[in-house]
Amino acid sequence: MCRHQHDAAVARLRAALVALPQDSPVRLSKPSSNLFRFGGRDRAGGLPTDGLDTVIDIDADARTAEVGGLITYEKLVAATLPHKLMPAVVPQLKTITLGGAVAGLGIESTSFRAGLPHETVLEMDVLTASAGLETVRPGDALFDGMPNSYGTLGYAVRLKISLEPVGRAVEVEHRRFDDPAACFAAMEEIWAAGEVDFLDGVVFGPDEMYLSLGRFSDSHDPTSDYTGQSVYYKSLRHRRRDLLSVHDYLWRWDTDWFWCSAAFGVQNPLVRRVWPKNLRRSDVYRRLVALDRRLGLTRRVDALRGARHEAVIQDVEIPISSAARFLERFCVDVPIRPIWLCPLGLRGEHEWPLYPLRRGEHYVNFGFWATAPLGPGQSPDYHNRLVEDLVDRLGGHKSLYSTVHYDREDFWRRYGGQAYQELKDRYDAQRRLPDLFEKVGTDSETR
Ligand SMILES: Cc1cc2nc3c(=O)[nH]c(=O)nc-3n(C[C@H](O)[C@H](O)[C@H](O)COP(=O)(O)OP(=O)(O)OC[C@H]3O[C@@H](n4cnc5c(N)ncnc54)[C@H](O)[C@@H]3O)c2cc1C
Repeated sequence: MCRHQHDAAVARLRAALVALPQDSPVRLSKPSSNLFRFGGRDRAGGLPTDGLDTVIDIDADARTAEVGGLITYEKLVAATLPHKLMPAVVPQLKTITLGGAVAGLGIESTSFRAGLPHETVLEMDVLTASAGLETVRPGDALFDGMPNSYGTLGYAVRLKISLEPVGRAVEVEHRRFDDPAACFAAMEEIWAAGEVDFLDGVVFGPDEMYLSLGRFSDSHDPTSDYTGQSVYYKSLRHRRRDLLSVHDYLWRWDTDWFWCSAAFGVQNPLVRRVWPKNLRRSDVYRRLVALDRRLGLTRRVDALRGARHEAVIQDVEIPISSAARFLERFCVDVPIRPIWLCPLGLRGEHEWPLYPLRRGEHYVNFGFWATAPLGPGQSPDYHNRLVEDLVDRLGGHKSLYSTVHYDREDFWRRYGGQAYQELKDRYDAQRRLPDLFEKVGTDSETR
């Protein structure tokens, strides 16, 4: 469709990188982000990325899409749905980009059968620190090292991904459980039966949790709309069945940033009525959080009240055999609800050295995104460290989009230190791009 535009954008990016003094920090200038590190203030500069968010080609027969690395999933889905196709894994937040979901990992309710977004990639062009352009495929060291590299090995500027067919709508069935063991046993059964297209869940408390089973449907019945006055996550508690258009199912969590929009009053019916519909989006709420962090408003209110809070914004993966233990312990130690559940497993035979999930293992992703009050004498990272210890003891992993509290040695033991250093020596010998530990282990927004 617009390959020449894409090529011109890549040429601009390469030229800017070549022109950048060797000792200047290298970062992409991106219009949006879903990282949860707000410490750095230096948002100026950055390499130009305009034109890297286009659809280059959709091959409906081969079920593939070729796109620029900075395309958002919102734009990608809008381009594939008219062909009755969707990317095999569509992360829930509209402004997550394909390149970001590969370099920073992503997940969704198809991940129990389709794996993670990087497993849907067939080929990509990576701009390396020396301004070289490498076309890499599964099995190439750079390709396999990109997931969880967070822009420290190079930038994915073009990707070719596989797509899958969709139905007219998605029929969702919500099943309630009142104890974690029963919930995860049912999850395993549903997984093994292989009869659903989508599977995720929400925990409201250790005695109230729901699994949501989604199936493509050709029904012409009316569909629900959760972009208006109703809020999707609340519907789980009172509806047993629901029908959503495929578009609305894919973005069901974006309108209210799962449930985090409550912090801005958007779920209050009076506020919701006047809050413009086009501003009920995860990127709007994230920008409000960034503004609050920059101005220190919540911090000042806390100080006036003599209170302290810790942001505990994390996604962790736990083997399903230990998922009930994780949830029970978490519910005792961390006063954060709801919690999102999403089953996942590696789809293929491939290994990904920087995020080494075990082949054949079934995992559950737990997502929790809120603040927890700190008691007297508790360190500012008390709950985060508690979660990191628990994840460790149960053989799990933690995503790196938010704060990280490991020391250097611990970090590299978990995230493929040796493979990473080999890739760094090969593709960034001058160390122009930041080191992964330095980048994610500090509270910095520099990307
Ligand atoms: C509250 C919250 C909930 C979340 N929930 C989910 C979820 O449910 N599902 C899910 O999948 N993810 C979720 N995420 C995580 C999100 O997917 C990751 O943070 C992802 O990396 C964001 O991608 P982005 O495109 O916004 O990239 P950014 O946030 O801009 O960047 C992420 C990192 O990737 C690097 N990067 C960006 N683009 C490229 C590129 N083209 N090539 C190489 N490196 C690049 C950047 O340098 C940066 O280090 C959540 C995050 C938050 C804060």
